[in-house]
Amino acid sequence: SPVFFDAVVIGAGAAGLFCAAQAGQRGLKVLLIDHAEKVAEKIRISGGGRCNFTNRDLDVRAPHKHFVGQNPQFCRSALSRFTPADFIALMDKHGIAHHEKHKGQLFADRSAEDIIAMLLAECAAGQVQRWQPCRVKKIEILASSPNEESAASYQIDTDRGPVNATSLVIATGGLSIPKIGASDFGYRLAQQFNLPLVERTPGLVPMTFDGDAWQPYAQLAGLALPVEISTGSKKERMAFNEDLLFTHRGLSGPAVLQISSYWKPGTPLFINLAPEVDFEAELLAAKQRSRKLIANELTQWLPARLADAWVQQDAAWQRPIAEASDKALIALAQKFSRWEITPTGTEGYKKAEVTLGGVDTKVLSQQTMECKNQSGLYFIGEVVDITGWLGGYNFQWAWASAAACAQALAER
Ligand code: FAD
Repeated sequence: SPVFFDAVVIGAGAAGLFCAAQAGQRGLKVLLIDHAEKVAEKIRISGGGRCNFTNRDLDVRAPHKHFVGQNPQFCRSALSRFTPADFIALMDKHGIAHHEKHKGQLFADRSAEDIIAMLLAECAAGQVQRWQPCRVKKIEILASSPNEESAASYQIDTDRGPVNATSLVIATGGLSIPKIGASDFGYRLAQQFNLPLVERTPGLVPMTFDGDAWQPYAQLAGLALPVEISTGSKKERMAFNEDLLFTHRGLSGPAVLQISSYWKPGTPLFINLAPEVDFEAELLAAKQRSRKLIANELTQWLPARLADAWVQQDAAWQRPIAEASDKALIALAQKFSRWEITPTGTEGYKKAEVTLGGVDTKVLSQQTMECKNQSGLYFIGEVVDITGWLGGYNFQWAWASAAACAQALAER
């Protein structure tokens, strides 16, 4: 006969571990299930092995600013009730040293493994039972019955036998990096319950450029420089000031990962390769005083390899600057300050850090993460149509949505 739990959490990643721990510590009998051999593989590989676990720049009055989705406002309630400071306090309680890097990003000093160990210790403190690897075969709603014994409303069929639970939490994450356990389980379950999904696409992902148009830039693989990158029409323009990295197949680096979450296929990216420099004024002034080749003149503002690759694209740019026409210099200046380039695609889920889209927030309560029309069913973390910027925002969403859900489970 089925074993009974107050709550079954499916997916022992960032959100699932934290939710199970918090619910267990609030006195609930919790089972945490994962189909993978190891818990939290994404925490393990995140932030180059040090896990960028939150971001201090998250604006607690307008936390949705750093999130993408059909309704980014949805994440406000959870993020303002469980803040970066709350997670930092937990890290401190466990004596895990951490440090701030670029733009408020917090990393573990030693290893992401310390954060996984912390979450497992928190689960143990809440007497959470863990089954893994364990496959969930089927989920059914049980007809409610008045006697205590069958207060459970969900039956979860697993390869370790059937389980009954009052509440069911889906924390199976997104589709990125399938080789470490990502699956579409959460989306399929949403469909089973007739919940709407927002289309899924890879986010925080390198972009690719096929064909001849990329030829001039292929030689730049490995080059990195700070840029301003933007996309979108005037009204909905998004821009980031971050590092750009040239790869063999296209562009990557924080600038491109950030903008990829806003990019619409078929539309261009605009890149200012030296946002601090007024190229038009500088090049026209240099023409008056310099005898150097244009490419040499450019090296005061740009890496030499980049300058070379650019001037190779037009004979008018391969001469001493004093002999160049104003028109040619203005055109060159334009190509640096507003380089327009249309990606052919992205590197896909193999390389994406996150999945955009997911369970439509319209059908979820922003206070509790519970489905509005399916009592006892909750979705938390990346499976929901909320995606954070690069820089610790995705883990903060995982922690905060988990905390909101755990509180609601305990109050049911
Ligand atoms: P996950 O952490 O992905 O957990 C989902 C869990 O569900 C997994 O354990 C999986 O095995 C399990 N699961 C899936 N399908 C099933 C199934 N059918 N049955 C049972 N279990 C299942 N974010 C940051 O904020 N900072 C970073 O530094 C950062 N670095 C990243 C680096 C990389 C390479 C990647 C890929 C992502 C990174 N992210 C980072 C994003 C972050 O890892 C995710 O947003 C976050 O892990 C989402 O948490 P989650 O609990 O919703 O899902």
